[in-house]
Amino acid sequence: MYERCRECKLGDYREEKRYKIVWGSGNLSSKILVMGEAPGENEAKLGKPFIGKSGNFFRNRLNKYFDVENSSYIINTVLCRPPDNRQPSIAEVKACFPHVSTVIFTMRPKIIVTAGKISSQWLSDFTGNPFEIYELSVAEIKTADLIFAWLPLYHPSYVMRSKEQTQRFEKVLESYKNLFKNVDML
Ligand code: URA
Repeated sequence: MYERCRECKLGDYREEKRYKIVWGSGNLSSKILVMGEAPGENEAKLGKPFIGKSGNFFRNRLNKYFDVENSSYIINTVLCRPPDNRQPSIAEVKACFPHVSTVIFTMRPKIIVTAGKISSQWLSDFTGNPFEIYELSVAEIKTADLIFAWLPLYHPSYVMRSKEQTQRFEKVLESYKNLFKNVDML
């Protein structure tokens, strides 16, 4: 049923281009959830998140602190690629909400890393917490008795455009290395 999802317009585009639905990837039993914005072209062709240019940049940086494929789970706010790499619309994000929220309730992560404003806003709306990029906070989903550390980051496609942003990004991740290292104690 899902393979034919037409809950939003991205479904038509996916069918037209013969793209795949990009489900999450990684370990659903892990304690770290990484949320991106939307699949890019490589992701939509292969059906896996964060495997294009900015995705690889991001995975490489995160892999210094935890094994992304085995010790975290990655999803995007929408499972299908928006045309021309545009941001997903509110209606498109809403259409994927049941899937993304189910992943959170199933995993019960201790750390959530959001990559970019779209996924950070998603989690902010979901939890009622405001956010500041690079500022670690504690967020809660009261209905599910779920509490986790939340680290909002800039989107990797923005970060990788400049050396200064890349250095800042790396410095921020390094400053949270103990958080990632001690995730099993959270
Ligand atoms: N790749 C993804 O899957 N998501 C992003 O947000 C960026 C790159």
